[in-house]
Amino acid sequence: MNDPATEGFAAVVRATLTDPRGWQGAGFEFGFADGAPYTIVLAEGPEVDRLCRPYDVGGRFSCQNGPVVALNAERWRTATPQWTGDLDSYRRMLVNHEVGHLLGQHHPRLQCPHQGQPAPVMAQQSTELDGCLPNPWPRPWELACAARHHDEPIAPGYDARAASRCEPGP
Ligand SMILES: [Zn+2]
Repeated sequence: MNDPATEGFAAVVRATLTDPRGWQGAGFEFGFADGAPYTIVLAEGPEVDRLCRPYDVGGRFSCQNGPVVALNAERWRTATPQWTGDLDSYRRMLVNHEVGHLLGQHHPRLQCPHQGQPAPVMAQQSTELDGCLPNPWPRPWELACAARHHDEPIAPGYDARAASRCEPGP
């Protein structure tokens, strides 16, 4: 692959997952190896559709589906019009959001619990910020919640109704 917009993909994933602001703050350690049990791929729409089934990502969204995180290459290149941050932070948000699903985290009940504050990283920020600031990193309460694990399995399979049991603090 020789696409300048996507050739730094592995480096961004690595930097994001090993950043002190990321999910390691919930006690997770990330290693990188060929043949690892979990895979993060950047792919074009039709391939992401295939990897995400039975989730319907319509060639546009990204997903986590069992051990696979599939990120949409078009989004990686351009972000979305709803995202008001820069492209680099969009990419980190995408990695942290979908890896958050891999770690058993779900979308929050409220997209934007506190107006004008950074959005939860598990909010669907590609679609709507809802009055929150664009945010690529898990909020402190999201880290606290992920650290408790809530008996949520790592790398959950398809569950269209999965909802978060984590609640933001005041
Ligand atoms: Zn999601």
